[in-house]
Amino acid sequence: MHFTRLRLLGFKSFVDPTELVIHQGLTGVVGPNGCGKSNLLEALRWVMGENRPSVMRGDGMEDVIFNGSGGRPARNHAEVTLTVDNRNRTAPAGFNDDDELTIVRRIVREAGSVYRANGKETRARDVAMLFADASTGAQSPALVRQGQISELINARPKARRRILEEAAGISGLYQRRHEAELK
Ligand code: ATP
Ligand code: MG
Repeated sequence: MHFTRLRLLGFKSFVDPTELVIHQGLTGVVGPNGCGKSNLLEALRWVMGENRPSVMRGDGMEDVIFNGSGGRPARNHAEVTLTVDNRNRTAPAGFNDDDELTIVRRIVREAGSVYRANGKETRARDVAMLFADASTGAQSPALVRQGQISELINARPKARRRILEEAAGISGLYQRRHEAELK
């Protein structure tokens, strides 16, 4: 699954619309401390369904919304758009049958967040599953947070197994089994 574009609006420090074109191969993000490198990675995780405050470095859901700085007032909503190359039709049929798949997650203060896939409102679960099946999920080992290497070294066997499952591309199955067990 190849991500081609990431667009941010009012997400954390990215108050103005910001669009990144992601080319094939390795992408490096460089810049001084505090310029928003980690926020970019968080935007990517967030649009794929991440909600855990520990990962999103905030106390609550709404902490991803620009909260004002440098004289600029706080925003009321945040939006992240991820465009995925779907020319080889990796997205399940329920999503779309186009060459491009666009996932939008938008949060409004006091109204929660919604997802849209190519303009159509989509359940959080389906978005999470889409990326989990493609092994690029919000919890994918391909996204390495600052301090995560030492976490991995000190992980308990069960947590380490989850990482291996994600790498093996079976975490979508894991999620479905978990849901089946809850029913
Ligand atoms: P480092 O090189 O130190 O890891 P970085 O480039 O990864 O830095 P980030 O952690 O992505 O930087 O960005 C931190 C900046 O984002 C801080 O200035 C912080 O105030 C700002 N920030 C975080 N959340 C919000 C928010 N909700 N609204 C406005 N600014 C925010
Ligand atoms: Mg950082």
